[in-house]
Amino acid sequence: MSIVIIGTGLAGYNTARELRKHDTQTRLILVSADSGRSYSKPMLSTGYRKQQTPGDLVQGTPEAMAEQLDARIITGTPVEAITPHAATVTLAGGEVLAYDSLVLAAGADPIAPRLDGDAADAVFQVNDLDQYERFRAAADDAHRVLIMGGGLVGCEFANDLREAGCEVDLVFPESAPLPRLIPQRPAEALHAALENLGVRVHTGVTLEAVDAGQGGLVGRLSDGRELAADAILAAIGLQPRTGLARAAGLAVHHGIRVDPWLTTSDPAIFALGDCAEVSGYVLPYVLPLTNAARALGPTLAGQRTAVKYPVMPVTVKTSCCQVVAWPPEEGTPGEWHFDGDGQDLRGEFRDAEGTLHGFALTGKRIRERLELTREMPPLLGD
Ligand SMILES: Cc1cc2nc3c(=O)[nH]c(=O)nc-3n(C[C@H](O)[C@H](O)[C@H](O)COP(=O)(O)OP(=O)(O)OC[C@H]3O[C@@H](n4cnc5c(N)ncnc54)[C@H](O)[C@@H]3O)c2cc1C
Repeated sequence: MSIVIIGTGLAGYNTARELRKHDTQTRLILVSADSGRSYSKPMLSTGYRKQQTPGDLVQGTPEAMAEQLDARIITGTPVEAITPHAATVTLAGGEVLAYDSLVLAAGADPIAPRLDGDAADAVFQVNDLDQYERFRAAADDAHRVLIMGGGLVGCEFANDLREAGCEVDLVFPESAPLPRLIPQRPAEALHAALENLGVRVHTGVTLEAVDAGQGGLVGRLSDGRELAADAILAAIGLQPRTGLARAAGLAVHHGIRVDPWLTTSDPAIFALGDCAEVSGYVLPYVLPLTNAARALGPTLAGQRTAVKYPVMPVTVKTSCCQVVAWPPEEGTPGEWHFDGDGQDLRGEFRDAEGTLHGFALTGKRIRERLELTREMPPLLGD
């Protein structure tokens, strides 16, 4: 028996840990395109505030993880193909690994910005520790940082870099931050808090071009304005990594399609984490993958277990104004109702019968998350 896991992010390593709680015997191999160091990705956007270097974020070297998990860990080696009928994966360099069960925990690609200009290649993206290390090498010396994207990652980095003393410009096309997570009123509270902290927030504009200027970079915005920067970070969204699965003939929609047992359209292949679409849900956050790994561990050990998804509100770690939210599904009939003032808001999205379908809490009101989470039915399982 042999289990192969593609990916050493939180999804890959959590699955391996959960498997080992139920099965200490089966041969286990993890393959990673990156350096294979174990770390908690959410810590990347609070590194300055917590005075942590990229090295401080490493929780385990691949060697230590191999020992802890009694596994072979292959790093810096992308899997290039999956051959389901032979039950093998082919690695860059040509090694072929046979599996009885294969786990796809390959994460997501950050969406690359389309930019004009002679320095467009200088723009950073941070979706793993290796990329963060490269960004920090530039940002530690940078005084002015321009950030594209007003989502969770963009807002958290803006907050963190501003606290580190950088001048920060945050640029996004929507009218307020966190557009896919929270409605206008709490978003305005976060916008005001970021500005109070000293972040320059530019709404309704996109970055169009990056050129090398005198002593740094110059970003040109869609309204014609120019912003000077020493470093530019793009955080404009994620695309589940589905290429390997698609090429292997597995069912793919927004993510790699899996059922509540995390099984793909091939019964020997499973998927979880940012690359997966679990019963229609693409949830690129830690709690969903933790719940998924907790089910997949016993399943891989022979005790078929369905994943349970309670409502898992998203926490945005903007210390200037924290946010905890669970947005209603698109198209759900109902209205937002707000309570509170200034930064401390509680928003509830209820239908005509009073049923709660989503919520958004900011500032001190984030303490009320449990009460609201408990009021909502689980997404999957009981
Ligand atoms: C800055 C930042 C802050 C965040 N903050 C939060 C937060 O506060 N709360 C929260 O819930 N979520 C947060 N998230 C999201 C959360 O961190 C992710 O959902 C989670 O870490 C995804 O884990 P993963 O294992 O699915 O993917 P990844 O961590 O991306 O791991 C994917 C792995 O697959 C490997 N891989 C990919 N392709 C191949 C291949 N072909 N062959 C071999 N290996 C391959 C990669 O090398 C990597 O090891 C944050 C994300 C970012 C970027």
